[in-house]
Amino acid sequence: MKFKEKINTWIFDLDNTLYSADSGIFQQVHQLMGEFISKNLNMDMSDAKKLQSKYYKQHGTTLRGLMDNHGIDPDHFLDEVHRLDYSIVGSNKTLNEELHKLEGRKIIYTNANKKHVIDVLDRIDLSNFFDEIFDIKMANYIPKPELKPYEQIINLFNIEPKSSAMFDDIAKNLVPAKKVNFTSVWIDAGYENFSDDIKASKEYLDFSTRDLSLFLKDVNEGKI
Ligand SMILES: [Mg+2]
Repeated sequence: MKFKEKINTWIFDLDNTLYSADSGIFQQVHQLMGEFISKNLNMDMSDAKKLQSKYYKQHGTTLRGLMDNHGIDPDHFLDEVHRLDYSIVGSNKTLNEELHKLEGRKIIYTNANKKHVIDVLDRIDLSNFFDEIFDIKMANYIPKPELKPYEQIINLFNIEPKSSAMFDDIAKNLVPAKKVNFTSVWIDAGYENFSDDIKASKEYLDFSTRDLSLFLKDVNEGKI
């Protein structure tokens, strides 16, 4: 069956999925997280950076590691690391056109917080386009790729997994997506650092693309 005949619920990650990985926002968040750890755990930047990446790998998000090991207040952390210069993020006309052609519900599913989502959507001209936003706070700060928030999103929004597709640039986030019966689409943003995750996740990826707009164009034209 063609993709667009099968799918009526479209679940998108935000960062590096709906806007380009090279926009610099990711690097800003990364830097602010390092500064947060350095300041709040009293360590120099190089140790803070090491801890940041260790927690990211072990806990799914740096935040989860900070909560579990140091009792950090998640809202404080999220406010601090999203003090970003959003002016460098811009809209992608081709992508937006293809998104608007999709029929059914559109949902944002992110490990970031809602304020960040609203700010980015405003910059990329997609404010009010999405029907639902599921952020890290709604997930009780349990990040992708843990299974629990995927089950939560299905129940909360009354989703039929077999007619849902999920798009994410982090391959391992699509492992639970596939396990709950979503069709999984990996946006290959070309990170080499995550190659182990990609190898381990490969069998869970139904589709992969280097360009989401081209993929959606094929979907809308019935080529997939
Ligand atoms: Mg992402």
